[in-house]
Amino acid sequence: MVRIELLVIQPTPFCNIDCAYCYLPHRSSRTVVAERTLSNLFTQVFASGWVDSGVSVVWHAGEPLVLPVEFYRRAFEIIEQLRPAGLAIQHAFQTNGMLISGAWCEFFQEQQINVGVSVDGPKQFHDRNRLTRNGRGTFDRTMAGIKLLQKFGIPFHVISVLSPESMAAPREMFDFYVSEGIREVCFNVEESEGNHISRCFSNASIDRAFYRFLHEFWRLSCLYSGSISFIREVEHAIGQIVRPRGTPFYNQLVEPFAVTCMDCEGNISTFSPELLGLKHPDYGDFSVGNVNRGNLVEFISDPNLERMAKDIRAGVSMCRDTCEYFTVCGGGEPVNKLAENGTFVSTTTQYCRVTKMRTIDLVLAAIERVDERHLGTTGITDRRG
Ligand code: SF4
Repeated sequence: MVRIELLVIQPTPFCNIDCAYCYLPHRSSRTVVAERTLSNLFTQVFASGWVDSGVSVVWHAGEPLVLPVEFYRRAFEIIEQLRPAGLAIQHAFQTNGMLISGAWCEFFQEQQINVGVSVDGPKQFHDRNRLTRNGRGTFDRTMAGIKLLQKFGIPFHVISVLSPESMAAPREMFDFYVSEGIREVCFNVEESEGNHISRCFSNASIDRAFYRFLHEFWRLSCLYSGSISFIREVEHAIGQIVRPRGTPFYNQLVEPFAVTCMDCEGNISTFSPELLGLKHPDYGDFSVGNVNRGNLVEFISDPNLERMAKDIRAGVSMCRDTCEYFTVCGGGEPVNKLAENGTFVSTTTQYCRVTKMRTIDLVLAAIERVDERHLGTTGITDRRG
């Protein structure tokens, strides 16, 4: 049974900046998605029978705020006219923050949009990689955007891409977020995706460096309680480990259409959102159909989808047979397997070592310490001994 949980829409591939680690191939293109394309997408999604009570919509894969607020007002109107009664839609924007203005803040508030801002920590880390098109740092303008969000009282989280340098400085990173009033943080380790080869992933001990970083960052957050309220990696790992008995791990990235992505031309791809716009000899541009020339429900039998799904399933099956983390991972991220191993039909990547294995290790070690303390104080340790 197909179930769409997340729609990723590329309103435009254009990005106003040029980060050193960006893998998006068309970030200079100023194409904008047509109203007809949006209308076709949502008509087909709502008629598919593949959505339950709600769906999340993320506007991304380019800088969404390069388009005017009016573009989104119109887009949201179109979606609202098509939305079946009772179906909830939660919109989200992932932005570099540089173009946030009072008008954007009013729109975010009015539409209750989830806002994520990309900031890589203090200026000396952020400005190494997050650059304007003429090579200048973007830190000051990003922070000005964050200050506006705070002034308007708009809740937001940040996504920080960790470099080897920032990973070696957990205290500095922690002090930065606390001093700037940033309370919800998500960490990405610079990945190899598309044509981009990660500096981090060429270092064999990067998983240990990430473990040390997260360990110290989490420790500081607990020590200064009330400072950081959400660390995505820790929260997700806890959710993966602590779940009702008998509930199998669900990995939406290996289920066709659970994450459905549309580029600005109406091309649909699925599995990892980062596949959108990449190229591969076996899978072409990863497109499985176009909403302007066909219907979403027919794309389930697209030969390219079947090819990808078969290979991704084979990779998941190999993970199931060989990896002790499978029950809390579900077979990883197809895009990283392809970028690092050259094939979906594979298992371990640097990405999963870092973001899955070490994070799970960290949370399991913490649970064990809590267990020991609890068992010790209740005397159960003695009885067992
Ligand atoms: S941690 Fe890596 S090897 Fe293990 S199941 Fe996940 S993707 Fe596969």
